Amino acid sequence: MKYYSLNKQAPNVPFKEAVINGIAPDKGLYFPETISQLPTAFFENIETFTELEIAFRAIHQFVAADIPDTTLEAILKKVLDFNFPVVPIDEHTAALELFHGPTMAFKDVGARFMAQCLGYFSKGQHSEVTVLVATSGDTGGAVANGFLGVDGVKVVILYPKGKVSDIQERQLTTLGQNITALRVDGTFDDCQRMVKTAFLDQELLKKMKLTSANSINVARWLPQMFYFLFAFKQVQRQEKEVVFSVPSGNFGNICAGMVAQRLGMPVNHFIAATNRNDTVPRYMREKQYVAKPSIATISNAMDVGDPSNFVRIRHLYEDNFDQLANHLSSYAFTDVKTKEALQHLYTEKKYVADPHGAVGYLGLKKFRETHPETYGIFLETAHPVKFLDVVEETIAKKLPVPPQIQIVMDKEKRFQDIATYDHLKQFLLER
Ligand SMILES: *Cc1c(COP(=O)(O)O)cnc(C)c1O
Repeated sequence: MKYYSLNKQAPNVPFKEAVINGIAPDKGLYFPETISQLPTAFFENIETFTELEIAFRAIHQFVAADIPDTTLEAILKKVLDFNFPVVPIDEHTAALELFHGPTMAFKDVGARFMAQCLGYFSKGQHSEVTVLVATSGDTGGAVANGFLGVDGVKVVILYPKGKVSDIQERQLTTLGQNITALRVDGTFDDCQRMVKTAFLDQELLKKMKLTSANSINVARWLPQMFYFLFAFKQVQRQEKEVVFSVPSGNFGNICAGMVAQRLGMPVNHFIAATNRNDTVPRYMREKQYVAKPSIATISNAMDVGDPSNFVRIRHLYEDNFDQLANHLSSYAFTDVKTKEALQHLYTEKKYVADPHGAVGYLGLKKFRETHPETYGIFLETAHPVKFLDVVEETIAKKLPVPPQIQIVMDKEKRFQDIATYDHLKQFLLER
């Protein structure tokens, strides 16, 4: 299996090279040459397979040329050592909880998988790889945790000053070892722009091997399809048609769900729920893609004005708008609506959601106005405690702090402040 660049101006490369490059030399995102369906029997009998078996079957075709089966099994075992429960909310709604991992957000899966792959690829190499990553919130913690102590890999994380929650900041600034955090005086988009500039900076590239750990990296993006399949396994006996509502920012998570569908998972429709950063909902309404600067919201991991993975979704549908619209609906919601949903879920359904999950829930409710006969699963992409202030204030209840979070609360934050690309470059060169 090879990967091509969506800009079509770069050579096709094996998985290993796509992971190490992150983005193709022509600035395009990598995409697998083929996506082969798994046998129908696999989905009919999915209940008889373990999570590890499901993940192995799903990812095998994408990585098998570069990772031996036994190594892949060992990697998956390390990555998937926590649960992915589908929690019923009412008779036609459930939450897929993706926050039972070490940093309590879904990004643990992709970040750990990528870290394990990169660790495997850099065994026996002389030069070390530097992972450069911009975060709007949860990526940083997940990447820091996933890569902590991985030999031959250094990690540099850029995050926007004052725009991530206290817990998120602690998760990415307190680990030390091979992890460094840079606090950027700017927005997430500024962080992402600096990272992209670095990847194209020939002077820098001559001196170091740089790669990304954002969801543009295929090793972070593809494993996200696992939990859609795990969820499907849990609701397979549902008589109604199953739909997923995915709170979306860079659109990597939902795009991975769509790849699971291409593998044959019998789920036909996806809902991309966003906050006021509504570039995709507008696109689905007006058929015109117009990026906007990002706006700060209470669901800050989705504050993205120009979602980097949306090109992959368009590509999956060969840029045929009508076909895409048959499989994707997208709606945007304000912070006021999000807080109402948090309250409603708490008082009416006895469920404490986080702001991102609440946006996903709203997307589902909106979709159900026109498609009442569906069983909807919204992705609870982070634990509510990661957004402590907003959640506690909105539902007027104190949340217990889980042990994974308690560990970082008492540690000291360590970071360097930067404001421009030159600062970043200087930092990388001087290290
Ligand atoms: C990253 C993140 C999202 C957005 O996911 P994308 O793959 O970028 O669309 C949603 N919710 C939470 C909690 C996140 O951390």
